[in-house]
Amino acid sequence: MRLLLLSDIHANIEALEACLAEAPAHDRVMNLGDLVGYNASPNEVCERVRAMGCPVVRGNHDRACSGLSSLSEFNVVAAMSARWTQITLQPDHLDWLRNLPRGPLRPEEFPGLEFVHGSPRDEDEYVLNNATAGVDFHLPGHADRIFFGHTHLQGGFLYRNEKTQPILPQYPSGEGVEVCRIMLTPGERYLINPGSVGQPRDNDWRAAFAVYETNGDTADNVTYYRVPYDVGQAQSRILAANLPERLATRLKLGR
Ligand code: ZN
Repeated sequence: MRLLLLSDIHANIEALEACLAEAPAHDRVMNLGDLVGYNASPNEVCERVRAMGCPVVRGNHDRACSGLSSLSEFNVVAAMSARWTQITLQPDHLDWLRNLPRGPLRPEEFPGLEFVHGSPRDEDEYVLNNATAGVDFHLPGHADRIFFGHTHLQGGFLYRNEKTQPILPQYPSGEGVEVCRIMLTPGERYLINPGSVGQPRDNDWRAAFAVYETNGDTADNVTYYRVPYDVGQAQSRILAANLPERLATRLKLGR
C-alpha cells in the first residue's frame, strides 16, 4: 500500500499541482491540514483537494479561516491573510473547511497509522524538537507511526533504544526534483512530517511531500520529495491580491 501524504498546502495551487505531477503511483492520499491561509489560491486548492476525495485532518488555518476560532493567536501577517481568505472563499468551501475533523484520525483502512495536524495531544502543538517529540512518543494509546504537519519542516523524529532522534532528509544537490528514502524498523516509533507543500520553512523553497509504503507487517518506508514549482506565479497572485509582500518573498527563501 502506497500512501501519498500532503500537508500545509496553504492555498498554493502551483506547488500542489507540481507535487501531484511528480508523485509516484499511489493507492491512497491523506491530507494533514492547513489547506488555506498565507497564499492566494484558496478556492483552487479546496476544489482540487475535495475532488481527490481523501481524508483531511483540519489545521489551525482551516479552523481560523472558516471562522471556528479567533485570529487573535495569529501574527499580523497571518491574520491579514486569514481575513482575506475568509472573504475570498466560496461559501461551500467555507462550509466544508468548517466541518473537517479534528485529529488524531485513525482510519480503519490504515491499521497502525495515526494522522494529526500538530501533535497527537494537541492539534496546535509544534513538534519542533526532541523534547516535545519525546513527550509525544510516551503518550499512552497512540500508534507507532504518527504523521503530522504544522511545523512546515520536512522530516520528523524516531524513538530508538529509548532515545528520541530527529529525522532530517538529505538532498545533495538542492536543485530539481530530489527524493530521500528512509526505512522504518518494526517496533520503533516514528513521527513523520511530509513537509509543507505550499510554504516550506526549512530553507528549501521547493514544495515538499512524502510517500509512505508498507507491505503488511514486515517492512515499511517513507520517501521524502522536494519538487520545484512556478514560485513566480504564486508570488504574482499574492501581490495581485494585495496580500502582504512578505508572503511572496518568503516563498522563494523557504522560510
Ligand atoms: Zn501550516
